[in-house]
Amino acid sequence: MNTVTRPRILVVGAGFAGVECVRRLERKLSPDEADVTLVTPFAYQLYLPLLPQVASGVLTPQSIAVSLRRSKKYRTRIIPGGAIGVDLKSKVCVIRTITDEIVDEPYDYIVLAPGSITRTFDIPGLTEHAFGMKTLAEAAYIRDHVISQLDLADASQDPQERASRLQFVVVGGGYAGTETAACLQRLTHAAVKRYPRLDPGLIKWHLIDIAPKLMPELGEKLGRSAQEILQRRGIEISLGTSIAKAGPEEVTFTDGRVIPTRTLIWTAGVVASPLIATLGAETVKGRLAVAAEMNLPGCDGVFALGDSAAVPDLAKGDGAMCPPTAQHALRQGRHVADNVIASLRGQSMTPYVHKDLGLVVDLGGTDAVSKPLGIELRGLPAQAVARGYHWSALRTNVAKTRVMTNWLLNAVAGDDFVRTGFQARKPARLKDFEYTDAYLTPEQVRAHVAGAGRQE
Ligand SMILES: Cc1cc2nc3c(=O)[nH]c(=O)nc-3n(C[C@H](O)[C@H](O)[C@H](O)COP(=O)(O)OP(=O)(O)OC[C@H]3O[C@@H](n4cnc5c(N)ncnc54)[C@H](O)[C@@H]3O)c2cc1C
Repeated sequence: MNTVTRPRILVVGAGFAGVECVRRLERKLSPDEADVTLVTPFAYQLYLPLLPQVASGVLTPQSIAVSLRRSKKYRTRIIPGGAIGVDLKSKVCVIRTITDEIVDEPYDYIVLAPGSITRTFDIPGLTEHAFGMKTLAEAAYIRDHVISQLDLADASQDPQERASRLQFVVVGGGYAGTETAACLQRLTHAAVKRYPRLDPGLIKWHLIDIAPKLMPELGEKLGRSAQEILQRRGIEISLGTSIAKAGPEEVTFTDGRVIPTRTLIWTAGVVASPLIATLGAETVKGRLAVAAEMNLPGCDGVFALGDSAAVPDLAKGDGAMCPPTAQHALRQGRHVADNVIASLRGQSMTPYVHKDLGLVVDLGGTDAVSKPLGIELRGLPAQAVARGYHWSALRTNVAKTRVMTNWLLNAVAGDDFVRTGFQARKPARLKDFEYTDAYLTPEQVRAHVAGAGRQE
């Protein structure tokens, strides 16, 4: 079989954008029209919006890790590893496989969908002591960590230690932070009943954000409702506040308060994957500056989308770019596949346009706020919309069944408080979970590709 003459399409990242793109390419291209390859460190697509429910134990980790190999129809070649650099001139992507080998993958078309990483700031102690909420490993780690704080506080005779183990700080009042604080507070609230030696009054969750409002996308009234729900449940919300300093046993807020805590969860926004910087191309706030067709102007065959790209939001206009949401990423995935196919067949590409459908925020149990198509919902109707939306967006029937079964089990049998200990001795810093130090600089990519070319 001669594969050399077929165009090579390389998709980087198996998230919302990457998987949607690959599946569309598989459906629309005949096998002899192009070779499709996907680079991904994991063999699943992670359904990130349900991550807080994994951290709180409502869902098992496996239920939101949607397999990339469910069907025999999936004919894409999968390279298990991460792209660590792209040389646009030579059209080569440098990959570090999961066994740490460096592989050069030439392409004719490249679709960059490596998503984003946790955005951090130059705050003393932050990267050493904060946990993120971006990967399955982090969610599983945080769950164990929170339960271990209850176990250790229960075993301790020292009132100071107890107090610091029973306070928890979440930074970031967007949907990720708000849902994380809400779901984990629910977990500790339910768990403390099984620890008769612990005073429930000592358990305290703090949710802080430098912005003056929680989730401004929800609008004034709904945002206030979300805030009231959380405050009613005892979560202390501090707005206009951030972290000045983080240590192993305490966190200092910018308003001067010092909170004794061993748990700092940092969800204060995202930035594009470091892979984007290796291209040495123009960026907007770190995201690759692409046209509305999601191609990189002046670079033939290069496309980018999802959280890693600044895709113009034509539905909003005014020079806005699409927000980093799953809603946009998966629609862009389908659209970019169409544009890759159009460009491969010498047809014209079309711009991406999508009007935002709204927001759903699951605060655990029957607490939720949602704004589908501009309609403001609270409580059970909002929860039904939130869960219905996520459930229908899961890619496979197996994942849908797992999630539904987990929800039903949790509703009937309540939470469970097992600490697995699988990751107890693993490093727990942000960079360890997100592999942010794995990437090359643009100069290293060029030198590597040039060197590899000479050896051939
Ligand atoms: C806790 C949380 C809750 C959220 N809730 C919502 C919500 O309710 N609604 C909503 O619309 N959005 C939500 N989002 C945002 C949404 O999940 C993202 O916008 C969306 O996942 C972006 O899709 P993507 O395909 O660009 O990136 P991702 O889905 O993050 O996929 C990127 C993929 O690329 C892989 N990858 C990374 N680096 C490399 C590399 N170098 N080489 C190869 N592969 C790589 C990653 O492993 C991953 O599989 C939430 C996010 C979080 C963290």
